[in-house]
Amino acid sequence: MDKKLEGLISYWHRRGIVRDKKVLEAFREVRRELFVPSNLAEDAYADVALPIGYGQTISQPSTVAAMTQALVLKAGMRVLEIGTGSGYQAALLSCIVGPRGRIFTTEIIPELATLARKNLAQAKIKNVRILELDGSEGYAKEAPFDRIIFTAASPEVPLPLLAQLKEGGILLAPVGSLLGQHMIRVRKLSGGKRQEENLGEYIFVPLRGKWGF
Ligand code: SAH
Repeated sequence: MDKKLEGLISYWHRRGIVRDKKVLEAFREVRRELFVPSNLAEDAYADVALPIGYGQTISQPSTVAAMTQALVLKAGMRVLEIGTGSGYQAALLSCIVGPRGRIFTTEIIPELATLARKNLAQAKIKNVRILELDGSEGYAKEAPFDRIIFTAASPEVPLPLLAQLKEGGILLAPVGSLLGQHMIRVRKLSGGKRQEENLGEYIFVPLRGKWGF
């Protein structure tokens, strides 16, 4: 048991940030130190974003936890992530959807895709496919998905990607300017309807590509 991680988990519980048992179990199972640069391993459970090279970061644990919970994941789901980075978020998703689920994660910087592949192999995660491409356009080939998660800041609610989401599915994305964003959760309802919620303020690195900054 990692004391710093357990400290974080009890803080999430006290503040009502994360109480979903599946999410907490995934945090215990996937070791964040495998996804941060080795010289920062000691800070793996500090509640801060850490640099992973190429100007990008692995998000802070509280943000990753809140987003993972907001996705309301179930075993066997197919999930698309935009912004692989270190691969840590993808590893948590994989852990929750289990062996029958599939995670597709897109990364626009090839070196980070390579890094994430190495990290995921070390963590013995098998059902994650890393795609080196502009994820702002989604990945139509493997659509539809049960869930779509953006881990880079999008200038607009990425509505074009709703076409790649199943009915009843959830799309989660930080939306706003380069200086700050709102976490927007969109539920795709029947008959072309949708419901949007604002889950609070965050700061992410920018989304690039066709629908990015
Ligand atoms: N989820 C990551 C952190 C993401 S940081 C983790 O758990 O470590 C955001 C990532 O999005 C960066 O690696 C950046 O290169 C990537 N990115 C930005 N625009 C993108 C795009 N259009 N398609 C795919 N990846 C993109």
